[in-house]
Amino acid sequence: ERIFVTVPELVNHVDKGLVWVRGRVHTSRAKGKQCFPILRQQSSTIQCILAVNDIISKQMVKFTGNIPKESIIDIQAKPVSVPNKIESCTEQTVELCVEQVFVISQAKSQLPLQIEDASRPLNPDDAGGLNIRVNQDTRLNNRVLDLRTPANQAIFRLEAGVCRLFRDILTENGFTEIHTPKIQLPDEGGEYFFTVNYFKETAYLAVSQYIHRQMAIAADFEKVFTVGAVFRAEDSHTHRHLIEFVGLDLEMTFKYHYHEVLHTISNTLTAIFKGLRDQYSREIEAVGQQYKVEPFKFLEKPLILQFTEGIAMLREAGIETGDDEDLSLPNEKLLGRLVKAKYDTDFYILDKFPLSARPFYTMPDPDNPKYSNSFDMFMRGEEISSGAQRIHDPEYLIERAKHDAVELTKLAAYIDAFRYGCSPHAGCSIGMERVVMFYLGLNNIRKTSMFPHDPKRLMP
Ligand code: ATP
Ligand code: MG
Ligand code: MG
Ligand code: MG
Repeated sequence: ERIFVTVPELVNHVDKGLVWVRGRVHTSRAKGKQCFPILRQQSSTIQCILAVNDIISKQMVKFTGNIPKESIIDIQAKPVSVPNKIESCTEQTVELCVEQVFVISQAKSQLPLQIEDASRPLNPDDAGGLNIRVNQDTRLNNRVLDLRTPANQAIFRLEAGVCRLFRDILTENGFTEIHTPKIQLPDEGGEYFFTVNYFKETAYLAVSQYIHRQMAIAADFEKVFTVGAVFRAEDSHTHRHLIEFVGLDLEMTFKYHYHEVLHTISNTLTAIFKGLRDQYSREIEAVGQQYKVEPFKFLEKPLILQFTEGIAMLREAGIETGDDEDLSLPNEKLLGRLVKAKYDTDFYILDKFPLSARPFYTMPDPDNPKYSNSFDMFMRGEEISSGAQRIHDPEYLIERAKHDAVELTKLAAYIDAFRYGCSPHAGCSIGMERVVMFYLGLNNIRKTSMFPHDPKRLMP
């Protein structure tokens, strides 16, 4: 039986005899009667040496030198400390003197992309941010290979961390995770729906999940969250829109003011940022090796600005923008830069959006009905979340829907949910891929979706 050792464990086996190691052939270099494969396990690499001697034949060296890159091999070898750095291409202090090699799974000898090329740092002068050596389409067409790069290994481990932290922090704070239907009837925003054949009816893929979250609140679940797929048939040839993304969504009752919820959300995000900084420094560094970006800055106490304050800052910077429209993308980004310059943070919240820019179920501001009890959250100047207090009075909800010409006939069960008593509540939806993208300072959301789909790409 072969007892396997991982690359990081090898330091404990130096000069203690033979071990087995399984890994990929990262690169291989032959030189006369010797060959120097580098073995890779995820992001760890180890230098191996095969030299013709009593145990290793000439054929063996030749055979090993010809194993295609990315093949998976088992080797039996003696870990030794590196005598000098000359033959070593890695940071390791250990090398492996190989005695046996078995090919477990052989890769094609022609690879559509080279892991080394796909891992190379960006040229900082490359304004478009595309790695000229391996372009995005080649990467996405061969995503399984592309995902083997150290940066991609790190991105998706960190993304798992975002979900884990979101779950842990909310669970500790008394939230219940719920699962809402992804096949639904339409609500607002009809243009973004994908239709599904649902027996004799037409159904739709969830564009958002607020309906069932709110119904869970009406059912006395007080604090709930979901981690689930959201589908939008939008023209997503932008840097931050996917066809299918993961919503980290929450809904919560409050006693006096919807800011109780706003603070829960912003504190949860701040705790996630801290968790990433403290627990994922290796991943952050690995991504930084390939994509040089400024570290993400956030304040201990999240910055909350009024929408009108944001507009005033934009106007001061010479921008003409209306009081009752959503921020355009350029204005959103500019405001992010202005906020960063003034408050030194990459994370902030804009509160009290114009009512006309928000969906019908948003609670108007009781003090000024031109505005609403709703907010967006931004990272590096771009939206990562929208949230609001919801209307919990059924008659008022119907009135607001009529005003916005929203068809309610199919949503009777949603309206009814508020007819049997429902606590005041608020909630939000956070885009998982956007949080990872902007935390790491990446320029395209496709980099933080493992298998991103867009109007032209349904596979992989
Ligand atoms: P945007 O203004 O960028 O189009 P939105 O205001 O339409 O976003 P919301 O309906 O508020 O988005 O959805 C809540 C959150 O879901 C957003 O803040 C964002 O983080 C995320 N999100 C929305 N659309 C997409 C998408 N197409 N791909 C990835 N994430 C998205
Ligand atoms: Mg949108
Ligand atoms: Mg928006
Ligand atoms: Mg929004």
